[in-house]
Amino acid sequence: MELIRPAFDPRAYLGVVYSLARLPLAFFYFVLLVIGISLSFSLIWVLGIGIPFFLLLLGITWWAVIFERELGTWWFGFSLRPMAISLPASSGSWARLVAFIRNPVTWKGLAFAALQVPIGLAIGIGFWAGIMLAVGLVAAPFLFAIGAISAQPGDPSYNAVGLGDSPATFPLLVVLAVVGVVIAIGLLHAGRAVVVFYEFLARTMLGVSQAQLDLVGAQGAVVVEQARAERSEQDRRQLVVNMGHEIRTPIASIRGHAEALLDGAGRPSEEETRRYLEVIQRETERLGALVDDLLVVARGEAGELRLDLRPVDVGAVAGEVVAALGPIALRDRKVKLVARLPETVVPAAWADRDRLVQVLMNLVRNGIAYTPEGGIVSVSVNAAGDRVDVEVADTGVGIAAEDLPRIFDRFYRADESRSRATGGFGLGLAISRDLVVAMAGSIEVESEPGTGSRFTVRLRAVQPQGVA
Ligand code: ADP
Repeated sequence: MELIRPAFDPRAYLGVVYSLARLPLAFFYFVLLVIGISLSFSLIWVLGIGIPFFLLLLGITWWAVIFERELGTWWFGFSLRPMAISLPASSGSWARLVAFIRNPVTWKGLAFAALQVPIGLAIGIGFWAGIMLAVGLVAAPFLFAIGAISAQPGDPSYNAVGLGDSPATFPLLVVLAVVGVVIAIGLLHAGRAVVVFYEFLARTMLGVSQAQLDLVGAQGAVVVEQARAERSEQDRRQLVVNMGHEIRTPIASIRGHAEALLDGAGRPSEEETRRYLEVIQRETERLGALVDDLLVVARGEAGELRLDLRPVDVGAVAGEVVAALGPIALRDRKVKLVARLPETVVPAAWADRDRLVQVLMNLVRNGIAYTPEGGIVSVSVNAAGDRVDVEVADTGVGIAAEDLPRIFDRFYRADESRSRATGGFGLGLAISRDLVVAMAGSIEVESEPGTGSRFTVRLRAVQPQGVA
């Protein structure tokens, strides 16, 4: 059964056709190489004209090899690696030519073409001869029978077909026909073997090596890593510039007020002294807050933002933040702060409790700062599938569409004058996002100028046991 299996395998028939095609291809490669190489070598002495001829030969072989690959992949599904490592689209024709000449596949393709002459001839001749033999042997008894039917005793053809002198001819021919069938089946087996052999040949000669691919992958990773390092270096430089810029204003203010206090000539009144000292105190506090923020940024940069992730009751955290900031919001800004906690049980979320408090404080403080008197800032907690969402929404000034994508950037302020007046450095949202991302969550914003903003912190939900 195993022996006649190829008779039912379409690949075996294709393999035979493929093997038959090796013969004309072997002639093609023979002519190509003989003409190409002899022209190149004989003309190399004539002003080097042989060199372009040789390149032409390489080019034609390249296309022939593409044809061979297509044939293999199209008919038999050969899985081959690419023939060349792709160059950047910007490379010029000279760079492409150099890459072509340096590509090992160009030369392996030439060797493949050269190998096709002996191998193709052997396989092609073998298969053509085998097929003719098999067809001849299988057809012989039929031809004999036809001859026998039409021949009469006494006809010259009666003896010619052998009926007259040797009646044993027909059984002998039948035996030979069986031999023909065996040869045909053998050819089908061989056809399958030829396909396997050519897949091996094509894989080793008509594609770049795995080592080359790995090298390119590693080089790509190095380029990406370099770009990342450069970007982070640039970010760091930018951070230092921005920091200097930010620190200058409060320091100038502190120095100005301190000088006014120390200035013996125009000694300020007691009330002025108190006001100046209050300014100095406020600015010092701001600088302290900036340093704290910068430390968080620096730790994040250095990958040292170690969070203590545990299951956290987000509703309780939101309630605490609202309780802490509510009275101040009402007293200082006439803004009402409300907590909208869900009636159903919300699962705990993976978070660092203190950092989550910091994030929500940031968002709520912003909401209060950018909401005019009489407005409302609400904090709500919702379970959403495998997440727990915290929303901080306000009825404030909102954020223009063009600022929305940038408000999470460090030191970015949508409205310089307004946010400077609120005392922020434009770091709060950047830090909040870093923290939330470190908790494997995300932070999003929707806003409409004049109507209000809504920040949503999405955290991963956990089972409600062991809540922090
Ligand atoms: P800042 O310290 O300036 O508030 P943030 O990083 O917290 O810095 O915010 C960046 C910018 O985003 C702010 O300067 C402000 O323009 C805008 N912004 C943040 N929250 C709100 C909000 N709730 N409503 C309107 N604008 C906001």
